[in-house]
Amino acid sequence: MKIRKEQRKDVKAKPSPENLGFGNMFTDHMFVMDYSEEKGWYDPRIVPYGPFEIEPSAMVFHYGQEMFEGLKAYRNVDGEVNLFRPEKNIERTNRTNDRICMPRVDEAFMLEAIKELVRVEKDWVPSLHGTSLYIRPFIIATDPFLGVRPSLTYKLMIILSPVGAYYKEGINPVKIYVEDKYVRAVKGGLGFAKTGANYVASLKAQIEAKQKGFSQVLWLDAKEQKYVEEVGTMNVMFVIDGKVITPKLGGSILPGITRDSCITLLKDFGIEVEERDITIEEVIHALQAGRLDEAFGTGTAAVISPIGLLSYKGEEYIVNDEKIGNIAKKLYDTITKIQYGEIEDKFGWIHRI
Ligand SMILES: *Cc1c(COP(=O)(O)O)cnc(C)c1O
Repeated sequence: MKIRKEQRKDVKAKPSPENLGFGNMFTDHMFVMDYSEEKGWYDPRIVPYGPFEIEPSAMVFHYGQEMFEGLKAYRNVDGEVNLFRPEKNIERTNRTNDRICMPRVDEAFMLEAIKELVRVEKDWVPSLHGTSLYIRPFIIATDPFLGVRPSLTYKLMIILSPVGAYYKEGINPVKIYVEDKYVRAVKGGLGFAKTGANYVASLKAQIEAKQKGFSQVLWLDAKEQKYVEEVGTMNVMFVIDGKVITPKLGGSILPGITRDSCITLLKDFGIEVEERDITIEEVIHALQAGRLDEAFGTGTAAVISPIGLLSYKGEEYIVNDEKIGNIAKKLYDTITKIQYGEIEDKFGWIHRI
């Protein structure tokens, strides 16, 4: 399929890289393609970014049949643009799509679509260290119909947003509330799929945790509220007795690409990694016994987000003196240096645009 292009006439002024936030500003163009049963995915195009028409009866508004992805383009040390493991986001797209009854995308074509859009918008990739161009592909159900079934038509779009450095003043560990009332995802549900439905389910817990003075919640399993699952919208890792333990993927946990990259790097560093069930009791006991050295979240937005405090059933527990730990620091440095082309990409994770 050939991508049709329609150039915008009035290009926007680029923001200054010092003042970038997250996801509040969009580039000049977007990628769009449509799907119908007869044609499959058709009419791929890069067109000016802007509002589009859709019927109020479109199924996405009523039953939430929607998926999204998130990845970034980085300005590397040579001034070129790097993508980090984009093929993983596309594989995950198809796993999500299968779960929510959406048509699959052609993985090679999708990669080309992302690359072509970033090529068109390459001047929007900010060059200050830590900044990046966030890439947001998403798919919505567009049938104008109120019956409950999967839609027969869809729209896939990719929008781009220049984003600021996540850590402007150094990496400060965050305070986390161990959530024992609300749950995010159940086994057999949508937890492994990157869909808006998981996010809407998590908002209430996040708001209440914020009101209590915490940055995020630590999610426990939905059935027994016993096993640790994720932290906020990140995967979670604990360093106990020098080993890294991360909850194993079992359907209710989102398989993060940063999580996967961390596991690969940790093994490469010679650090033992266990993907297994871990209870909150085990975490708290290890903390009390002085055996828990570090805890941190992993995800595309922050890369690594160290946990400095856990609040569980009314007690507060300090982790690593509220400082970033050595393993978290080493993972953060290694991943960001690979992303910005500062060290050798020995795992072949970078796609140069
Ligand atoms: C996207 C996401 C992550 C992190 O995935 P990455 O591929 O590492 O960005 C973790 N948990 C949830 C719930 C997510 O939506």
